[in-house]
Amino acid sequence: MFKKEKFKIIILSLIVLACAFVWYAVYREDRHGVLTVSFLDVGQGDAIFIDAPNGNQVLIDAGPDKKVLRSLSEVMPFYDHEIDLIALSHPHTDHIAGFLDILPRYLVSGFIESGVSAKTPEYISLKKLTGENNIKEIEALRGMKIDLGGGATMDVLLPGQNSSKDNPHEGMMVLRLVYGDTSFLLTGDLENATEDMLVYLEGENIKSDVLKVGHHGSKNATHPMLLGNVKPEYAVISVGVKNMYGHPATETLERIEKFEIPVLRTDEEGTITIKSDGEKIIVLP
Ligand SMILES: [Zn+2]
Repeated sequence: MFKKEKFKIIILSLIVLACAFVWYAVYREDRHGVLTVSFLDVGQGDAIFIDAPNGNQVLIDAGPDKKVLRSLSEVMPFYDHEIDLIALSHPHTDHIAGFLDILPRYLVSGFIESGVSAKTPEYISLKKLTGENNIKEIEALRGMKIDLGGGATMDVLLPGQNSSKDNPHEGMMVLRLVYGDTSFLLTGDLENATEDMLVYLEGENIKSDVLKVGHHGSKNATHPMLLGNVKPEYAVISVGVKNMYGHPATETLERIEKFEIPVLRTDEEGTITIKSDGEKIIVLP
């Protein structure tokens, strides 16, 4: 009799736990009208996780290695192993390689890339994985608008019709994430003439609250023409501690400073999370 009672209690507590979990999951899926963008700490590389107001999720680039798994697990609920869309700004190792650890562990629905392919083992492996997993593939082109749901959209600003199909930096995918009055300009490794072209094409339309600084703060990116048109509230630099390239360059930091734009760096802060309610952005402490 005593044993039976104990059994009942165990069953009951399991049911209570299961209910609590379901409610927790429901609560977590409802973002209460908030868009969250996390610039993940992946060392020297880029990885940006977007959590749309309706719970749809996008991962833009995945850093140089499996470090992205740990950073992702810090911004995604532990039970969530689905990512709606992955995006590759360009096929360089410090942006692509982490996807090879993501794809075997997460169920991914779509893949958007710049249209510049590569003969590297990482690119070949990624394409093999997207094919095997029946992931819908899209080639980005200027003018496309990706509806993330919940009112958030992502505009493809580059590549254009005439962009390079061979040079990863010249054929860069540049995205502008928009939610209500707030926006994020996500530039990948944009630099030099391609950056000038973006400014020429868009002018003040690239005004954004957050600028993901091009090419880890390299001296060849983030010129006054870009800064003057984007006029961001914050500039985010995704960069590794004591990296071998000397990123970010002193001259780039000085250019940003002249515009009095606060800089947030992943080598100093770790993962940087910014939330938007559609009216204003907040950087999480
Ligand atoms: Zn890079």
